[in-house]
Amino acid sequence: MQAEIISVGTELLLGHTVNTDAAFIARELAVLGIDLHNVTVVGDNPQRLREALAQAMKRSQLVITTGGLGPTMDDLTKKAVADLLHRPMKLHEASLTQLKEYFGTRPIGSNQESQAYFPEGAQVFANSIGTAPGCAITAENGTLFMLFPGPPRELEPMFRNEAMPMLRKKIGSSIVSFMVRTFGQGEGDAALKLGKLCAQTNPTVATYLGAHGEVFVRVTAKGETQAQAKAMALPTVAEVRERLGDVVYGVDVESLEEVVINTLIKRKEEVATAESCTGGLLSKRLTDIPGSSAVFRTGLVTYADITKTRLLGVPQEMIARYGAVSREVASAMAEGVRMRSAADYGIGITGIAGPGGGTPQKPVGTVWIALATKNKCYATCLNPTGRYAGRNVIRQRSVGKALDMLRRCMEGKPVVPEE
Ligand code: ATP
Ligand code: MG
Repeated sequence: MQAEIISVGTELLLGHTVNTDAAFIARELAVLGIDLHNVTVVGDNPQRLREALAQAMKRSQLVITTGGLGPTMDDLTKKAVADLLHRPMKLHEASLTQLKEYFGTRPIGSNQESQAYFPEGAQVFANSIGTAPGCAITAENGTLFMLFPGPPRELEPMFRNEAMPMLRKKIGSSIVSFMVRTFGQGEGDAALKLGKLCAQTNPTVATYLGAHGEVFVRVTAKGETQAQAKAMALPTVAEVRERLGDVVYGVDVESLEEVVINTLIKRKEEVATAESCTGGLLSKRLTDIPGSSAVFRTGLVTYADITKTRLLGVPQEMIARYGAVSREVASAMAEGVRMRSAADYGIGITGIAGPGGGTPQKPVGTVWIALATKNKCYATCLNPTGRYAGRNVIRQRSVGKALDMLRRCMEGKPVVPEE
């Protein structure tokens, strides 16, 4: 099946909005093994939208649109598809009821009501977040049109819950895929370790570069049923894990911080953090995870040296002797916050995020990270590698490393390389 995406919205052409919807759909289609041949962006212009739809209908069996389903004048997509397929617009009662529920006591304008109208013959996708439902409709020539609202938080669940099952059924075979997630190893190293696995065809194994020191490996199998595809994929997933070793932090998990929080919850243990150059990013990423309140004690941002001494008890002489960016100070921060908050684990991060502040001994990008437990304090240094990548990259990488150290510690894996 040949697919294409038409993203509708002048804001996309102006560069105000990045077309993340198309990227999301592209990834989902890849999981299904559906070939995506074109992504088109058109502004909120009826004529050009009609042209794009007509061309797509000629060459693709699946046409997915994003945006332009809402209540405003520039929301043209449904009407344009209805015109192209020569279908009248019909009221969808269930959507009107839902729209009324959404608005509650507020009045609904006729423009809002337009969201409950669909081209005749459309199957409606309910919108659990916003107001504009999506829909699917098959043209006379067999081309399947799927229309989605623009906002990603509305489109993504709708696509996963409604479009994916429909497409799975349509393509007949079942595809199952697993994402193995790793931290602390380059994509090249991962590919070397995976070797011939990356060349096999069913299941397929492919590496992806994630952000900030993460590499993902997707294992995809195609079978006649979901269960068969899954049974085919699982041995390869096990082999990928085996070959990559302890850099693997999870399979089909959301993030490193999710794994850390859930492991802490299981172990009924708590963590506290003391950050300098990461400015609270570690506590932010930990508290992004629902349920973190059960295991996250406190996060201090001790940016000035005096606060490292006053709030964490890092001796002034230690800072003077070794410098604020040192194994000693990172360890004292980790131990200080652990003791003061009565947590099981304390994490200390101190470094130079740049662009200024570096010295020949401690260049920009040098970050010390320490993990204090009841019995031991581990510390490691991230050294700058190559060209300066900017504050955000250094911060994210440091936080990733800190999270990974805690994950390794709880899993009984080596926490720092020297061990
Ligand atoms: P609404 O009911 O919100 O109007 P809609 O289907 O009409 O939904 P649009 O009006 O086209 O959607 O876009 C609404 C918002 O959704 C945009 O302002 C933008 O923030 C976001 N958006 C739209 N298209 C995309 C896209 N392709 N990728 C990412 N975000 C998008
Ligand atoms: Mg809109």
